[in-house]
Amino acid sequence: MLLRGGRVIDPSSGLDDECDVLIEDGRIAEIGRDLDGQEAFDCTGFLVVPGLIDLHVHGYQYATPLGIDVDHYCLGRGVTTAVDAGSAGASTLLGLRKYVIEKCSTRLLAFLNIAQHGLASAGCVQAGRGGELDSLNQVSTDACIDGISSNRDIVVGVKIRLAEDVADGGRNEVEAYRRAILAARNCGVPIMTHHAFSSIPVTGQSSEVLSCPGSLARGDIYTHCFHGFSSCIVDPHTGHIDSGVWEAKQRGVLFDIGHGMGSFNWTVAEICAKSGFWPDTVSTDLHTDSQAGPAYDLPTVMSKMLCVGMPLNEILRSVTSTPAFAIGWQDRIGSLKVGREADVTVLSLESCHLYIEDCQAQQRLLKQKFVPKAVWRAGRRGFLTEPEVLPNQDRVPELAKSWTNAVVRDAIAPITVTEDK
Ligand SMILES: [Zn+2]
Repeated sequence: MLLRGGRVIDPSSGLDDECDVLIEDGRIAEIGRDLDGQEAFDCTGFLVVPGLIDLHVHGYQYATPLGIDVDHYCLGRGVTTAVDAGSAGASTLLGLRKYVIEKCSTRLLAFLNIAQHGLASAGCVQAGRGGELDSLNQVSTDACIDGISSNRDIVVGVKIRLAEDVADGGRNEVEAYRRAILAARNCGVPIMTHHAFSSIPVTGQSSEVLSCPGSLARGDIYTHCFHGFSSCIVDPHTGHIDSGVWEAKQRGVLFDIGHGMGSFNWTVAEICAKSGFWPDTVSTDLHTDSQAGPAYDLPTVMSKMLCVGMPLNEILRSVTSTPAFAIGWQDRIGSLKVGREADVTVLSLESCHLYIEDCQAQQRLLKQKFVPKAVWRAGRRGFLTEPEVLPNQDRVPELAKSWTNAVVRDAIAPITVTEDK
């Protein structure tokens, strides 16, 4: 298969040129001008990039309330590798492997939840379903270490949600966090933290006090970095990014979007954009409550970052080489190097005029959007799908309710909230 005449961008090598990409036997065979191939796909006017990587999804469908159909929402939208963010814990990981990872066409990897049952009965934070850290009996460093050690081919790190209402009203947060850090350090893998409505501070008074991202080290991942609730990276009193967050970024902590249903706030994104604080990785946190908006899919979240001014090449880096590096897979994915497995995504960047919501129903005008045009996973063409409705106005009244809880937000409330009867 010859991908002919596109603008080929590979942030891992700095390549940005109009040329052809030849795929043979499932691998990238050659990149250059005027190549020959039996079958060609015309990429004129399109971007040809390494297969997109979504660092934060929930793909344990049917076994967890949040699990989505990975091939429909990931490969179908140009994502060749997705990383499940803690849907499974040590006790439930083998089900994720057998029933999802081995069955789907998307390459699916996983952060292992420090809770042994993962998100088997958990929903979004503040959804009242109970949480995975409600009992510390289920939070075992040893089980987590065993789970990682025996599944290195699929597990790339440890996941924890730091939020009072998934941790027995906050009583278990510190101890669970301590155990999760211990497991990650022991295995030499990163920890990914969700940190919102948490009793854990952003920065600690001393190194003995656990904080987030204060206690994170180089290579660890702070997801949901653009949420606007308490525990936000922007200090609501000053309106500036917390100094401890800047320090964390300087020491190499990675900041990840993890859009989801609650964690992308236009106001926070714009404050960060103005300060030149770009996320290291752009990801969706796709799950059953974000797939039909407000996250939709990775190209849509990338379009939102374009809207706040993130440069095109940085956006592409944040969904290819940086997430590959974050999970230690930089020698296998996230690049178009000759000889690599042919994971390739073709995107068009199209003009549009769409008012699109954040997680609090605040709206911004999208003038350009990424649209997947074709995708190859290990040289095999994948089927593309499309959002049914975009933007999905039906979600807006429900999302608008969370505007009240945001500590960083627009001065004016979003459009009218529909009252419950
Ligand atoms: Zn998540």
